[in-house]
Amino acid sequence: MTTTISPLIAGNWKMNGLRGSLDELTALAGMLTTGEAPRALVVICPPATILSEVVHQGATAGILAGGQDCHTESHGAHTGDISAGMLADAGAQYVIVGHSERRADHGETDAQVCAKAEAAIGAGLKPIICVGETESQRDSGDAENVVAAQLAGSIPEAASQHEVIIAYEPIWAIGTGRTPTIEDISSMHAAIREKLTARFAEKGPSIRILYGGSLKPQNAREILAVENVNGGLVGGASLLAKDFYTIISAV
Ligand code: PGA
Repeated sequence: MTTTISPLIAGNWKMNGLRGSLDELTALAGMLTTGEAPRALVVICPPATILSEVVHQGATAGILAGGQDCHTESHGAHTGDISAGMLADAGAQYVIVGHSERRADHGETDAQVCAKAEAAIGAGLKPIICVGETESQRDSGDAENVVAAQLAGSIPEAASQHEVIIAYEPIWAIGTGRTPTIEDISSMHAAIREKLTARFAEKGPSIRILYGGSLKPQNAREILAVENVNGGLVGGASLLAKDFYTIISAV
């Protein structure tokens, strides 16, 4: 891991989490406050319905909160959508944009993801911008090109002045229990770092690059130790406090 970047572990609860799930948050907060101080920033991105509870209950343990998506616009006639400003108003500090499930389920393009990241920055949030290749793109040797194009299209220019976070999540690794080899993670993260530095000059080396996709207690230590892996975006294994705490402690 690059020593100059403080690591960040974010939990993406996706469409999981009722009020009862807050028991897991309470348990995690307990582990974080009684155990060794975490070496990573800890963020939880719950469903919007329980975001403000996560903000308030997490605060005592230093747990930060994030949204899972935001609209490109700040307000208006967009039934069912949430603006970045509303997430900030609820106490969020981060928002995931361009998750592969949003790209697949809602046809989000790089340009839309870029506009969402821009809206997030405009509202004072730090966008976690997701990129990642499909299995066939990896098999055909296109993974780095695909990710490079997503980076070019999804990161707004404002990233030169504001904090953004990149999450590399190979789509075929999400929720499958499969992960790329350590060598593949290492070379993809190095390639991403190179692109960030080419585009954002001295800011490039300071941008966090998270790994996501079947990150779990069993593989966290090895993956999080890879150079240019500055933390993780965790789905399934963030739902249980003990698993998530093990991953946080693996930093
Ligand atoms: P997973 O999901 O950890 O369950 O693979 C990661 C993600 O989609 O962010």
